[in-house]
Amino acid sequence: MEISKNMIGSEVTTWYKKNGRKDLPWRIKTTPYRVWISEMMLQQTQVNTAKDYFLNFIEQYPDLESIKNASEEEILILWKGLGYYRRAKFIYQAKEKIFKDYNGLFPDEFEDIISLPGIGKSTAGAILSIAYGKPFPILDANVKRVVGRLYNQESYQEKKFWELSKKILDKSNPFLFQQGIMDIGATICHIHNPQCDECPLGRWCLSKKNGSFYTYKKKKTPKKKVFLNYEIYKRDGCIYMIKNMDLGFWNELWMPPYKIVENNNREIKHGLSHRELHLEFLVTSGTPKGGKWINKNEFNNLPTPKPISDKLEQYAKSFL
Ligand code: SF4
Repeated sequence: MEISKNMIGSEVTTWYKKNGRKDLPWRIKTTPYRVWISEMMLQQTQVNTAKDYFLNFIEQYPDLESIKNASEEEILILWKGLGYYRRAKFIYQAKEKIFKDYNGLFPDEFEDIISLPGIGKSTAGAILSIAYGKPFPILDANVKRVVGRLYNQESYQEKKFWELSKKILDKSNPFLFQQGIMDIGATICHIHNPQCDECPLGRWCLSKKNGSFYTYKKKKTPKKKVFLNYEIYKRDGCIYMIKNMDLGFWNELWMPPYKIVENNNREIKHGLSHRELHLEFLVTSGTPKGGKWINKNEFNNLPTPKPISDKLEQYAKSFL
């Protein structure tokens, strides 16, 4: 059947009303601020993990006014364990800009929203569609897959996919449509084994017709191994910590002093987007410099990468 965008729009909307994940915490009440925070979290994090972090974040900072005076470090602490800490820094920078340039009101024009740090075209489209009901396309990983398969595209081409996302968008109901198309991607059009028989787009879908289900996943590049030896200086229930400024990742997060080495007796292996970290912890003595002593009861008050803070908690329980 020829793809008719009007029919797709109403089909997606009807499907969403009946089957959509309307109980996701950021959907229970949609404000630009809440959609923004959730979209920032969802950029690199699975929905199930993001839920608790979102609720925790919103409990602390329910709206723009409440986050107005938050420091970057306070926001980073709430991000602990979520990874990709740049997103927390972007939230800090964006809220600063919102209060400086937009009077503390979340902007509602595409050009203004996309000028905020950390917000790309798809996040801007989601905020505009869901929070403001303005018809702007989105192209997150799920939507990319649905759109590509609907038109049986063999490979991902950014310009083309944006056109397709725009083409099928139900302009009369972007709020329901965009959430619906995201949910179809997340719950039906799986990367492997798509459930085409349950899909409201099945009768138009060219991939279903051809039996060819492309994934549009980026080729993985091998991760660079980094061997880090942490030096644990302890004194009176405290551990010495520094603010990392030069590793090239985990920037401005707190951790014990470290050395990059050729190899080590790895105690913890931790993956980042482009690196595989091998971490070893060595209790040592001497006079460290450039940081401060942190009491074991205050570890939680510092933004520290999760594998490091887990290790410090162990130390706190065992020998501090
Ligand atoms: S019919 Fe199948 S391949 Fe096409 S969008 Fe739906 S789930 Fe994906």
